[in-house]
Amino acid sequence: MPAPGADQTPAPLAGGTEGPRALRPLLDTVLHALGQGATARGGPFPPGGPDAVTARLRTAVGPALPEHGTGAHEALRTLVRALAEGSADPADPRCAAHLHGPPLALAAAADLAADALNPSMDSWDQAPAASALETLTTRALATLVHPTGPAPDALVTTGGTESNQLALLLAREAARTRTAAPLTVVCGANAHHSVHRAAWLLGLPAPQTLPTPAGVLDPADLAAALDARHGAPTLVVATAGTTDTGRIDPLPKLADLCDAHDVPLHIDAAYGGPLLFSDTLRPALDGLDRARTVTLDLHKLGWQPVAAGLLAVPDATWLSPLAHRAPYLNPADDIEAGHPDLLGRSPRTSRRPDILKIAVTLRALGRRGLGDLVERVCATAQLLADRIEAHPAFELHSRPTLSTVLFRPTGTDDRALADTRRRLLDHGTAVLGRASTPEGLWLKATLLNPHTRPDDLDALLELVEGHTPR
Ligand SMILES: *Cc1c(COP(=O)(O)O)cnc(C)c1O
Repeated sequence: MPAPGADQTPAPLAGGTEGPRALRPLLDTVLHALGQGATARGGPFPPGGPDAVTARLRTAVGPALPEHGTGAHEALRTLVRALAEGSADPADPRCAAHLHGPPLALAAAADLAADALNPSMDSWDQAPAASALETLTTRALATLVHPTGPAPDALVTTGGTESNQLALLLAREAARTRTAAPLTVVCGANAHHSVHRAAWLLGLPAPQTLPTPAGVLDPADLAAALDARHGAPTLVVATAGTTDTGRIDPLPKLADLCDAHDVPLHIDAAYGGPLLFSDTLRPALDGLDRARTVTLDLHKLGWQPVAAGLLAVPDATWLSPLAHRAPYLNPADDIEAGHPDLLGRSPRTSRRPDILKIAVTLRALGRRGLGDLVERVCATAQLLADRIEAHPAFELHSRPTLSTVLFRPTGTDDRALADTRRRLLDHGTAVLGRASTPEGLWLKATLLNPHTRPDDLDALLELVEGHTPR
């Protein structure tokens, strides 16, 4: 082991006054490799299926832990290029399977600064300015969600999954102050699977799931379910933007029922929440501000690199069950001396400053700029639905609510449809999702790319038609 001060200098660091000088040539290598990888791929997805993709990666990479290193430039060139070549590229208009969005270049650039500075959000002495930026930014976003709340605030999370889990945790702790009976979640069959996992992780009974044949929760069903609970501790979970179809539950009616039964409401707006940025689309979220907790995901309609999740509440004091003491991170005398206590803002300890890329994006684009991006992708979805309705070879499931369009070749069966989707992946020509409804299986296009043009949609439909067995 070389002693400190020995001849060989260790690899340079990203921070300090010298960090930028060390980073610049490495970034040149990274950016070059990204371009080369994308060119080599030549489409939205690496062709050949899992075996071929894995074989190409293994050949390019060789040993994952070589005895002697290859040096920074070679390692970056090889691995970044291999990863780019073998990636699903959400910046390609033909990559539209999941809520897997193309990050904005400015957000990715901001994330680089977060990596170089590496503030950790669990104590003030690791993140003095980053914690202040997080406070400022989360309050602004929470105020968008709960404009009339007494003290709107939001936790930064790894995404909808963690946000939903925290929402259930806060509801469990609030219920515990009133009764020893376990909290039961009541949600629709359209709720995200993470709601069920959260109940399991938190030791709660399995959620009571109401059927949603129409794609959204029926207030009459919820009314009956709440009546039948006779005041037992309950949390209602509604969805604003379902993962399968992008539908929004009837929020005002559900909020009325929760009020009438004195039951808290959580709204999972992981997908639909950013409609708040748009003056024209915001009315679709009427009632959102009546939820006790709201999940938002800015790595979906928000164009952030993963992770950029939020859990918004109208009153910061509701977050107090998360308060936690670790004498080396938030000693009582530091807090008394005025140091912010950050540990209660997440169940995690070390935590990335994901707020930086979010804050940069909000500042660079403004509310209107983000609203414009949301409007663009929703308009693109309407356009794709128009094209499908007018096309004799295709059947449309329903008009889109957000930016998700379900469709299928007319007269196809479920097995042929599943084959079509896999064939498109194997050829690397298009990445589409699938969704199952009472009417059977559908292809799902989740449109998150604000640069997608009408002829991209025509090309996508042509590809599907060309890969449909006849
Ligand atoms: C995507 C999604 C989630 C999960 O979010 P992650 O960021 O993937 O953890 C939860 N709920 C809904 C409605 C979603 O669309």
